[in-house]
Amino acid sequence: MSSKKTGPVTLLIVFLTIISAALSCNSEKQQTKPQQLTDTSRLAATYQQLIDSATKVRTHAYAPYSKFLAGAAVLAGSGAIYTGCNVENASYGLTNCAERTAIFNAVAAGEKTIKAIAIVFDVPDFDAPCGACRQVIYEFGKDIDVIMSNLSGKRKTEKITTLLPYAFGPESL
Ligand SMILES: [Zn+2]
Repeated sequence: MSSKKTGPVTLLIVFLTIISAALSCNSEKQQTKPQQLTDTSRLAATYQQLIDSATKVRTHAYAPYSKFLAGAAVLAGSGAIYTGCNVENASYGLTNCAERTAIFNAVAAGEKTIKAIAIVFDVPDFDAPCGACRQVIYEFGKDIDVIMSNLSGKRKTEKITTLLPYAFGPESL
């Protein structure tokens, strides 16, 4: 007898619970999804802007010996973009890479941190920064995105901590 009374009530509770869960799940999606899309598209646009800036400054590279033109663009902590190209020298060891030129340019303007750096080389795939530049990039943040691109737009993005594991940084001293 009691099962006849509680049965429908139990079913009703189960039904309401399912409806409530479905509604809360739906409203959660509506709240978070557009925000994520906006952030992602904004980031993609900024990174494309970095690649465009690096591609443009690459044409100023001074590379009479290697003929390897490189461009870099830094997204600094303030949100400003700074660019740099490689500058070679007859005394080869004095050559400065595009990445470091861009970073030094940012620091000279008063920046203390970096959010991302894009590098553009004329290579079939994409290429990563040299070891010296990885060390210099790491100096200005552990969460820096390194966007590696060629002239055709083929690209790969990695965190500096992936490119330079077990890094020696300011926290090491
Ligand atoms: Zn380098």
